[in-house]
Amino acid sequence: MREVAEASLGRLREWGWSVQWRCQACGGLGRSDIDKLIAAKGEDYRLTDRGAPCRTPGCEWFVQFYAMLGMRRQSLRTPEGDSYWSDRYHAWKLKQYRNGR
Ligand SMILES: [Zn+2]
Repeated sequence: MREVAEASLGRLREWGWSVQWRCQACGGLGRSDIDKLIAAKGEDYRLTDRGAPCRTPGCEWFVQFYAMLGMRRQSLRTPEGDSYWSDRYHAWKLKQYRNGR
């Protein structure tokens, strides 16, 4: 489903997908308002491989984005983005561990 993973916000909305964010570190998750995102960023904006700072108090990690359609969930990541984020995540965890957290 690379097509969905790399689709623009306008395309996702056209195809009926909604957007969810999830944080790997704290387990937080929620729904993103695709209309608001489009109003702020434009229809051509893509969430592919992006991360946004997690808003959970005390959490210092980033949320990732997923497209949701009924029971289907597709991460908005390419294999390249996946390895980028998992490398960063492991480096961050290691730093936390060294800092005694
Ligand atoms: Zn978090």
